[in-house]
Amino acid sequence: MLKIPDLHTHSTASDGTLSPTALVEHAVAAGVETLALTDHDTLAGIAEAQDAAARCGLRLIPGVEVSVTWGGRTVHIVGLGVDTASATLREGLAGLQAYRLWRAEEIGRRLAKAGYDGALEGARRHAAGTLIGRTHFARFLVQRGAASDLRDVFKHFLVAGKPGHVPGEWTTLEQALGWIHAAGGIAVIAHPARYDFTRTKMRRLLGELKECGGRGLEVVSGSHSRDDYFVYARHARDEGLLASAGSDYHGPEKPWIELGRLPPLPDGCTPVWTAPAFASASGAGA
Ligand code: AMP
Ligand code: MN
Ligand code: MN
Ligand code: MN
Repeated sequence: MLKIPDLHTHSTASDGTLSPTALVEHAVAAGVETLALTDHDTLAGIAEAQDAAARCGLRLIPGVEVSVTWGGRTVHIVGLGVDTASATLREGLAGLQAYRLWRAEEIGRRLAKAGYDGALEGARRHAAGTLIGRTHFARFLVQRGAASDLRDVFKHFLVAGKPGHVPGEWTTLEQALGWIHAAGGIAVIAHPARYDFTRTKMRRLLGELKECGGRGLEVVSGSHSRDDYFVYARHARDEGLLASAGSDYHGPEKPWIELGRLPPLPDGCTPVWTAPAFASASGAGA
């Protein structure tokens, strides 16, 4: 069976646990032929992933998962086939990285008040480089025995109404799409089922995405159920959007989401990877 591309993965450049090289090697071993590295708000892992991909014969799509605030919620937009040299994209992401640093300090202060000292330092030990996120705090808190697993720690510490939650604003949908398009990329809504939007609100999001030049949404995702595949395949068809597929792999700590196991898109979808824009955005013939 022909493997479908995996267009949503993370490395240690954001909150994954495998280095870009290890991720590429793991993908190749799992039979993946086309892989997008889409770390949160950073391009820092792409060059290493490209080197590893060139050695292994894997087609690596340079990508990014941009954090956006829309409709009072955090929405993630995956940019595929972005030019990592784009100053517009780099400057935009630098703003999000600065916000992340401030937010991390604030999470640390709030957790200290709740009786968990040293959380910022603990989270930093789990973060490989410049980027720090809630997952790094979650790993520290699990290690400290504050909760049994990542899911539990998010639920009790890191979401709205909990001690380590910091309300705040990422960037706008319009700005995120502007950066992705300035870098020649294709913009896709990540894991739409995760937002718990009503049908009306989802249609409004898809409408605004299209108004800003966005092209697609993830239909097959590691965080979607089988029913979700069909719900979002239908949204894609109704709105004339391209369908994407990605595991949202963060490393072997979540063994139920493995690389190379994505099911095919439901019938009637137009896959983002067959669109002419995808070939040009990700380097034709690469
Ligand atoms: P951040 O962008 O730093 O706010 O963190 C968002 C990341 O946290 C997501 O990309 C996931 O990797 C992780 N995450 C969010 N919610 C959960 C959850 N309930 N269980 C495990 N990981 C989660
Ligand atoms: Mn993540
Ligand atoms: Mn996401
Ligand atoms: Mn992701």
